[in-house]
Amino acid sequence: MINSNPAQPPAKDVFARHGLRCTPQRQVLFETLRQTKSHPTVEELHQLVVEQHDKAISLATVYNTVEVLCKAGLAKRFPTANGCCRYDADIGEHLHVRFTDTGEIVDVPAELSDKILGCLRSKLIEQVEQQLGISIENVNIQLHSRRHCDDAATGMPGAMPPNGTSD
Ligand SMILES: [Zn+2]
Repeated sequence: MINSNPAQPPAKDVFARHGLRCTPQRQVLFETLRQTKSHPTVEELHQLVVEQHDKAISLATVYNTVEVLCKAGLAKRFPTANGCCRYDADIGEHLHVRFTDTGEIVDVPAELSDKILGCLRSKLIEQVEQQLGISIENVNIQLHSRRHCDDAATGMPGAMPPNGTSD
């Protein structure tokens, strides 16, 4: 039994619903991707599978399988600046932060993500739909940041806090 999260339906049920054949390799890759929050690259996912499941699996198989999962709507692909892609098996709408210096992608905390999407949906998305005469199916927002803030240590003499007033 690979499925360790009782809140998630077993991989074979998910595959059946999406018309995918359930092979042991697909199952182990999907479960591994579903259980990580790291939005791994193919290489990172390969390493996770090897470490966690002690499985001999080729990089090519990992690559092909994540592409199959994306096509079936079971994972999302995020191209990165250096040409490789990162993958997420959380296909629910949520916001991401991309670190421009490391290439990592992390989820915005769910509560904040929902609040931001809720604000957009209730006002602005509706206006876009009305003005363009379309129906928005999916919102994909990425916030960009740097993971390593090297100028924090240098201190900025004379810098004022955002609300800093002298009177
Ligand atoms: Zn995500």
